[in-house]
Amino acid sequence: MTDSSASLASLDHSIYCNFCPGYCCYRLPGSTLFVTALDINRIARHFNLSDGEVRKRFMESRNTFKTREDGSCVFLRNGVFEKRCSIHSARPRQCTEFPYGKPCPYLYRQDLLQRIHPRLLASLAAPCPDQSTASSSID
Ligand code: SF4
Ligand code: SF4
Repeated sequence: MTDSSASLASLDHSIYCNFCPGYCCYRLPGSTLFVTALDINRIARHFNLSDGEVRKRFMESRNTFKTREDGSCVFLRNGVFEKRCSIHSARPRQCTEFPYGKPCPYLYRQDLLQRIHPRLLASLAAPCPDQSTASSSID
């Protein structure tokens, strides 16, 4: 980690969330989303489905969601300017608590941070985001 990435990562991570494609919503190496029975019940009520139907439609195994080919969570909205969770109010507890009051660990990854930082600088230079930069890929 460089000095610059260390100082950037020590900032309030929520600033970066606004410009991040949502790396925490991808199954990147070393990351695991743990979905509990309580989470499944909350999502079931959100969709007015049974717990079993939620498991059938969205779970890959007993404890985690399916992902798309690019590794993104099935509930991550793709193809929009800023990616967002489509079940935000009902998302799993792990998602609400991450990064647990600490700096986001993804911001210590120079490769990922370098993709976020230009977006942040661009937004400071141009208050109105340019919708033509919309992307459906992770970067
Ligand atoms: S990876 Fe970190 S900075 Fe990006 S959205 Fe998730 S918590 Fe925010
Ligand atoms: S449930 Fe929402 S916040 Fe959690 S990983 Fe999936 S898209 Fe991200």
